[in-house]
Amino acid sequence: MNYPSKRLGQIPPYLFAEINKKKAAMIENGVDVIDLGIGDPDLPTPSHIVEKLVEELQNPANFNYPNFIGCLSYRQSIADFYLRHYGVELDPETEVLALIGSKEGIAHLVPALIDPGDTVLIPDPSYPVYRMATLLANGNYYDMPLLKENNFEPDFRLIPQDVIDRSKLMFLNYPGNPTSATVDIDFFKDAVTFSKEHSIPIAHDSAYNMVTYSEYKAPSILQVEGSKEVAIEFGSFSKTYNMTGWRIGYVVGNKEIIKALSILKSNTDTGQFTPIQKAAAFALDSDQSCIKTHNRIYEERMAVVLEGLASIGIDVEAPKGSFFVWAPVPEGFTSTEFVTNVLEKTGVILTPGNAFGPSGEGYFRISLSVPNERLFEAITRIKESL
Ligand SMILES: *Cc1c(COP(=O)(O)O)cnc(C)c1O
Repeated sequence: MNYPSKRLGQIPPYLFAEINKKKAAMIENGVDVIDLGIGDPDLPTPSHIVEKLVEELQNPANFNYPNFIGCLSYRQSIADFYLRHYGVELDPETEVLALIGSKEGIAHLVPALIDPGDTVLIPDPSYPVYRMATLLANGNYYDMPLLKENNFEPDFRLIPQDVIDRSKLMFLNYPGNPTSATVDIDFFKDAVTFSKEHSIPIAHDSAYNMVTYSEYKAPSILQVEGSKEVAIEFGSFSKTYNMTGWRIGYVVGNKEIIKALSILKSNTDTGQFTPIQKAAAFALDSDQSCIKTHNRIYEERMAVVLEGLASIGIDVEAPKGSFFVWAPVPEGFTSTEFVTNVLEKTGVILTPGNAFGPSGEGYFRISLSVPNERLFEAITRIKESL
């Protein structure tokens, strides 16, 4: 047969496929598996949002093809949120676009901006979709190493000139998956300066913008003066409101980039179901105390994990955002060896750091997607296995 395409042939096997196979086999054998690998909140979507969806489902006016850029009330709610939360003004007509989850927008952005052979600057380690979307667009990616000693921020000065010349897009993501690193506005200022100097647009993925702890407030890249000339920002309801399965997100910022993405999307999809857009708008417009409640739960879980890791000699600084713990593997192991060893001995699933890029080697990721007791149990088992 002459398929799949060469383009698809470049995509490495799905990272979690092997782990999922092992997990299924262990469950079959009666092992009590604790999965700390998935980045999917275990808490339910707040009930007022679910109720709004049910209400909108009763209205037949919502049943037609949705407007593919998103209904205006949805885009207006996002513009209102940016003004209220960040002090950033957005034109809902041209600077806000609805997405079927931010993953969809990220994946479609790449072919909307690059041609085959162009380069995309990608944080290493990072969310694998940036890399895979680049390969699917017949582009090349350049890994910008995120090192602990640099607060997991890329050092733009280390990017070779010939790479810069070929680059048509850069991704950033703070609070970061998998590193849980956070930045202040000065980092975004530097990024925007770099971007303008070299005419490389920036796509900032802010999936964890509201998953933050204590007094920390994650900045938007659009708070940088003049950033709208070069930057867009992806947003999602998945992690903020525990709505991963709803598939609803948005992108805001530079209107030419948004226009390009909307042209590609208008030939690919037809927008998210209107009742889901309306319920998501309601999530932004109504009482936000659910976010605080979720974050407090994650913060407690974080404390359980950090304390447990410290007791086995793995010290991790308390993250200010995201629901991940990014920890160094004990001496004598590679990421894959450690994670495989833990899984086989304890039934605890961790994600090996190298799954997120070469600079993730030497780390593993814990997702805080199970209750305190299970986290405690997982750490206890790991401790006993070492
Ligand atoms: C979960 C996640 C997303 C995907 O969000 P959706 O809106 O559910 O598609 C995007 N980026 C990062 C870094 C994520 O962790």
